[in-house]
Amino acid sequence: MGEITQAEQYLIDQIRQGNSQAWLQFIERYQGRLLAYARRQISGNTADAEDVVQDVFVNFIRALNAYRGGNSLESFLFSILRRKIIDLYRKKSSSRISLIQDVYKSDSREGDSDYLAGFSAGESTASWYVRRDEHKDRIYKSLSRAILEMLEGLKKSLNFEHLKIVELLFYCQVSNTDAAAVMKMDAGRIGLVKHRCIKQIQKSLPRSEAKEIADRDLEGLLGQIWQQYRPSCPKRNTIGAFLLKTLEPEWENYVDFHLHILGCHFCQANYEDIQLQNRQKGADRLQQRIMESTVGFLAGKNTSR
Ligand SMILES: [Zn+2]
Repeated sequence: MGEITQAEQYLIDQIRQGNSQAWLQFIERYQGRLLAYARRQISGNTADAEDVVQDVFVNFIRALNAYRGGNSLESFLFSILRRKIIDLYRKKSSSRISLIQDVYKSDSREGDSDYLAGFSAGESTASWYVRRDEHKDRIYKSLSRAILEMLEGLKKSLNFEHLKIVELLFYCQVSNTDAAAVMKMDAGRIGLVKHRCIKQIQKSLPRSEAKEIADRDLEGLLGQIWQQYRPSCPKRNTIGAFLLKTLEPEWENYVDFHLHILGCHFCQANYEDIQLQNRQKGADRLQQRIMESTVGFLAGKNTSR
């Protein structure tokens, strides 16, 4: 979801300087969505979910001095959280299957474990992340930029059909046939869209890197980047607007697909978190309304009669 924002960078700088108020603000900002995601993955076990989320913050603050920024904090925190949950499940060895991401991936687990192989055993996720080598970093960044450019184009032209296909192929990493089934389309057409998107990404890469990447498994790289940075995920504001039903019909249809058919756990976590926040705000408003309408009746303040 893009690079770290100025506001986030400022917050991080403040935390680095030991500003506890900034740290509190940071925790408040992210704990809700992390907890919603953890609860969903740990099938409603709140105690475990809270432990895991606490762990994420501990991990984050410990590795903070080495954190170089670059990618969005949210995806960074989610990547630590994912790792923690996987660890927990390795310990508990129970299964978790929910929406399309998990269902379709069950027969291609290899891809998933490949992605996870990046985390060597015993090393904390945060320190793995910050120690990733510069070269790999540069390639990832160029590719991320090329992906974002392609996605911008699709969104601008309201080409949500292709956007959905791209998400199915690279984010969920399902086969052309499976994507065709979900989209109720011919698998040949899915292949065509895939081909076109890859070509476009290659074209917008710096020439030297395009050459270098051409020798690699571009599809595999795209999958890794998608899983890690979720470049196509709707922004939190967009999810908020979806909840308020203020989106254009095309956008609404797409966000609905992303949340409920694709079943993006990260966006669902944001969705739940925003819902909860809205409810709390509603409760606060009600409280305020009650206060306003009752304060006049308090002893000694009864000036209206
Ligand atoms: Zn998402």
